[in-house]
Amino acid sequence: MKSETLRIRICPRCGARYGRQPALSRTDGITLICPDCGTREALESIGVGTEEQEQILEAIHRSQQ
Ligand SMILES: [Zn+2]
Repeated sequence: MKSETLRIRICPRCGARYGRQPALSRTDGITLICPDCGTREALESIGVGTEEQEQILEAIHRSQQ
């Protein structure tokens, strides 16, 4: 068991608390953000709008339950 993955972090981008593996922000390559924001940034980079990003995240969350 890796304790690293169980640590609760606060995402500086959206303020959410998360215990999953963090994602590296594409904006500076240093900041650790939550997996959701990692997905948001990835979608943003391919030109997906904010509203559609949330819809995609919702679909991802549903599939993870
Ligand atoms: Zn976030």
